[in-house]
Amino acid sequence: MAAAPFRIVIVGGGTAGWMCAAGLVRLLALTDYDLTLIESDAIGTVGVGEATLPHIKNFNDMLGIDEAQFLRDTRGTFKLGIEFVGWDRPGEAYVHPFGTFGEPWASVDFQHHWARAMLAGEAVGSLQEYSFAVAAAKAGAFELPNEDPKSIRSTYAYAYHFDATLYAHFLRGWATARGVKRIEGQVIDITRDPASGHVSTLRLESGAEIGGDLFVDCSGFRALLVGGTMGVGWHDWSEWLPCDRALAVPCASAAELTPFTRSTARRGGWQWRIPLQHRIGNGHVFSSAFCSEQEASDTLLANLDGPALGEPRLLRFQAGRRARAWEGNVVAIGLSSGFLEPLESTSIFLIQAAVVDLANLMPARGGGVDARLAAEFNRLFEVHCDRTRDFLVLHYAANRRHGEPLWDHVRNMTLPDSLAHKIALFRESAAAPDYKLGLFSRDSWLAVLEGQGVLPRSYNRLAERIPMAELVEKLAELRDYIRLNAVAMGSHAEFIAGYCDAGASGAGAMVAA
Ligand SMILES: Cc1cc2nc3c(=O)[nH]c(=O)nc-3n(C[C@H](O)[C@H](O)[C@H](O)COP(=O)(O)OP(=O)(O)OC[C@H]3O[C@@H](n4cnc5c(N)ncnc54)[C@H](O)[C@@H]3O)c2cc1C
Repeated sequence: MAAAPFRIVIVGGGTAGWMCAAGLVRLLALTDYDLTLIESDAIGTVGVGEATLPHIKNFNDMLGIDEAQFLRDTRGTFKLGIEFVGWDRPGEAYVHPFGTFGEPWASVDFQHHWARAMLAGEAVGSLQEYSFAVAAAKAGAFELPNEDPKSIRSTYAYAYHFDATLYAHFLRGWATARGVKRIEGQVIDITRDPASGHVSTLRLESGAEIGGDLFVDCSGFRALLVGGTMGVGWHDWSEWLPCDRALAVPCASAAELTPFTRSTARRGGWQWRIPLQHRIGNGHVFSSAFCSEQEASDTLLANLDGPALGEPRLLRFQAGRRARAWEGNVVAIGLSSGFLEPLESTSIFLIQAAVVDLANLMPARGGGVDARLAAEFNRLFEVHCDRTRDFLVLHYAANRRHGEPLWDHVRNMTLPDSLAHKIALFRESAAAPDYKLGLFSRDSWLAVLEGQGVLPRSYNRLAERIPMAELVEKLAELRDYIRLNAVAMGSHAEFIAGYCDAGASGAGAMVAA
């Protein structure tokens, strides 16, 4: 007799729960797996998370979602990167683009050529001037990347800003239409097998009992199974990321529809601005050790583009991650597995990566949950989280906002060894991390290192194969070429009007494709 399907039970119906359900139902054969999701309307979701990274497009493409329809229904806009205002020091700004800086010349990475000319005192400007995505973002321009890899207009990727609640609703419709069973109800008790310690049954308020072979904990900050039941410890990263609160409030749109997220450094933290088609999402992330709730609220409300659409909502958190995301037969995905402040919009990517890793490591029908699968999942989880942490900490550590207590504190803190190494390497040689695993590419590291005022003292000597005069000319040509192409591109607002305008039809019209 054939073994019964392997039962996967997802607890939680926020962005993590529904991305997990949709991803698994797409990647696994439902003849072998049985997928159930439990969510509680009474508890609700965290209700934030509107800015993303380019990887989300791959996830949506994998599901076969029509992009224009998706953007119409989530009132979405395009994102070419993040503008950091005042992070190095007040009055200065830079963009972390989703694109490359120049291209390798004579088989040597671009930044070495730039560093060489810059160190020789040539007027070659900032690295920023060699990114087409930066130029387009500054021009408020957008179009889909050119498919010809030789075109400068192919040298960027893009992400979205969208209404996260509408996205989760959409995924719910999509996943349930494909066989995921949804149960509305609150989990009030969890039973473990005394021999293995594995979770065996969840009891709901209604009295219903739900058995499973593998349980995915998407219960958000509550971490019902991974923390509550399995007691997996927490690596606290607040010594490096001291912000522990956020106040979030949407406001009416007033100004231009910028194709980027803006993050503005404030005395006690920083403020985000995420433009959607019908409103702007705003929030002030702050450290309660350095800034009162009143000050954070006043700063937030004094710096909105239009009238606030409601009262600011307070969220509390602690930066860190679970010691292990997969323990026994429980896998934590989303906020239950860890939290890093939304400075680089990384949470939804970390959910996506975990869903794909879980699908790749899913036990076979009839098989058990092998500890080696868990060990590999945890290895990938750690790499993703730890490298993302380093990237976020870099924004704080390398600042020149002297005389402001929070910024003085983070400038003087002892860094994780891995980050201290990356900064030193760049300073000494202009080399930047380029690894297969880990979210941020070399270009991302370059953008933030230079943007935060970390400059190289040297460069790869192989760059000297190009004569200096020729190099300076090539750099000038590239700068002009980028500038001319960016201004020739249409505006972001025009692109949206022609491609995915949500019009006055109202949000919430999303239906499963
Ligand atoms: C201030 C802030 C800003 C953010 N901004 C961004 C951003 O710009 N970009 C980004 O990528 N991410 C961002 N994030 C993170 C992002 O919001 C989350 O990663 C994402 O929403 C996933 O949340 P979740 O599904 O894990 O948890 P939640 O949304 O909290 O969902 C938890 C689910 O579990 C259910 N549940 C809980 N307990 C029970 C129970 N006992 N029984 C049954 N069901 C239960 C709830 O009903 C809910 O359905 C931000 C987070 C914060 C705090």
